[in-house]
Amino acid sequence: MPPDATSLLDVKGVDAGYGTMQVLWGVNLDVKAGETVLLLGANGAGKTTFLKSLVGLIETRNGSFHLAGRDVTRMRSSDRMRLGMTYMSELAVFPDLSIEENLKVGAQALGHANPGARAEELYGIFPVLRDKRRNPASSLSGGQRKMLGIAKALAAEPKLLVMDEPSAGLSPLFVKEVIRVLSDLQGRGLSLLIAEQNIGFLEVATRVFVLEGGRIRFSGTVAEMTDNEALRRAYFGLK
Ligand code: ATP
Repeated sequence: MPPDATSLLDVKGVDAGYGTMQVLWGVNLDVKAGETVLLLGANGAGKTTFLKSLVGLIETRNGSFHLAGRDVTRMRSSDRMRLGMTYMSELAVFPDLSIEENLKVGAQALGHANPGARAEELYGIFPVLRDKRRNPASSLSGGQRKMLGIAKALAAEPKLLVMDEPSAGLSPLFVKEVIRVLSDLQGRGLSLLIAEQNIGFLEVATRVFVLEGGRIRFSGTVAEMTDNEALRRAYFGLK
């Protein structure tokens, strides 16, 4: 099937796994420019496996990934990043480096001409990081470290920010703060693909894909998802 020219990211029929174990089965997904797409699924549904195959950290057995119309399926991870896709995993931050050094590393990944200036822009979005810029990342609280992870990913000026469970390890209060930051980034025109099991992220989603047992069970708007009785029961505990 040809890629959808209107999509920033177009994923068709992806199979992936580890050794003899197949985890993903024919996954289709797309993100249009400016959208925030939520990939919702329980533990073990295959979210991380999907993101790793998308960004090139594990091999894709079948299917394709197109980014802004270019086939990136067999591209190295670093080349996918250069084309505008940045991955924020849980291990996004270097604990021994200072906040500023972390941001510069993020900017340098793309050969940014002036990483210092980019860090300065990011302090505008994350003022708490400016105050602590000289401190090691290990001195930050869990929530602040998450903010640094997001800022470091943004330092590369991605077109598409791919996030694996930004809520992981955070208290409900910090989860709210992360959602607020994502909504701010959305307002700045960034495209986001967020893998989560926390339905609180539906608040910022323009569309949802539900992954179960490595297969996409549903795709649609948040309103369409909440109209679906089986999904409503499974994810919201409602009758
Ligand atoms: P979680 O929220 O727990 O991370 P997930 O939806 O991201 O869940 P995956 O981490 O993609 O799910 O895991 C999907 C399946 O693949 C699980 O059965 C898991 O045990 C298996 N799996 C994950 N990583 C590996 C690996 N490196 N080697 C073998 N199997 C793996």
